Amino acid sequence: MQMILGKTALVTGSTSGIGLAIARAFAAQGANVVINGLGAAEDIEEERLGIEHEFGVKSIYCAADLGSPAAIANMIAEAEEAFGSVDVLVNNAGVQHVAPLEEFPPEKWDSIIAINLSAAFHTIRAVAPGMKRRNWGRIVNTASAHALVASPFKSAYVAAKHGIAGLTKTAALEFARDRITVNAIAPGYVWTPLVERQIPATMEARHMSREEVVHDVLLEAQPTKQFVTSEQVAALAVFLASEDASSITGAILAMDGGWTAH
Ligand code: NAD
Repeated sequence: MQMILGKTALVTGSTSGIGLAIARAFAAQGANVVINGLGAAEDIEEERLGIEHEFGVKSIYCAADLGSPAAIANMIAEAEEAFGSVDVLVNNAGVQHVAPLEEFPPEKWDSIIAINLSAAFHTIRAVAPGMKRRNWGRIVNTASAHALVASPFKSAYVAAKHGIAGLTKTAALEFARDRITVNAIAPGYVWTPLVERQIPATMEARHMSREEVVHDVLLEAQPTKQFVTSEQVAALAVFLASEDASSITGAILAMDGGWTAH
């Protein structure tokens, strides 16, 4: 992992769940990390200081709301100013809303497309010039099994995740000669606050109990009957940033306990 030592990784949505695990995994490899996401200021500062002390790296926090292209541009500029470069970009922030299509609030559609899809366009667009100049870069997008298959009641999320798969492939082709790889990880269900929060709405939409949602909806799709862990996703992100992964680009890598093998 010499490749990552001393480099800078920016992980969007890293105040919780998978993004937090990814930020910590890059720090563990000696990367300085830029964390981003929502949350209580004191919790985020505790996380940032914890990363610095535990792994002996530098970390800064950018509060950018990924629904705002201007805030995204500022975040990248701030990161480049603080560390000189953004070498690894992980587009991970994501939100979910569960409702039947004809009842799906249009403003929820807009914000899910903005945060889960358009934000990655804006970050990639901003980091690409620097990565090209340095002739090296790694872009990893947290997609989802929902980048490959659909589920009912998640129209905006599934559309955004299929969109991120297309963006991943297009960027990979455009940057193929610049030693910049662009890949997406497509996890099945990972036990994080995002999954926990969608249980009540799924209970309502499907008229089910909490246990039925967990076993008959969430793990129903996953043949292993195990949740993926955030640490497993993070380990794949770190591998994708390594030199051994330099020929992996434009890939949508399923990590879903067999879900999309159906
Ligand atoms: P999470 O809710 O634990 O974390 C989401 C992160 O995104 C948080 O840090 C949150 O603050 C941040 N975020 C949300 N809105 C934001 C905004 N407007 N601006 C900046 N940051 C914002 O969720 P998670 O499960 O860790 O999800 C992370 C990614 O993994 C998402 O893209 C999600 O779609 C994807 N994913 C999750 C699962 C799963 O089962 N948990 C499965 C497949 C894919």
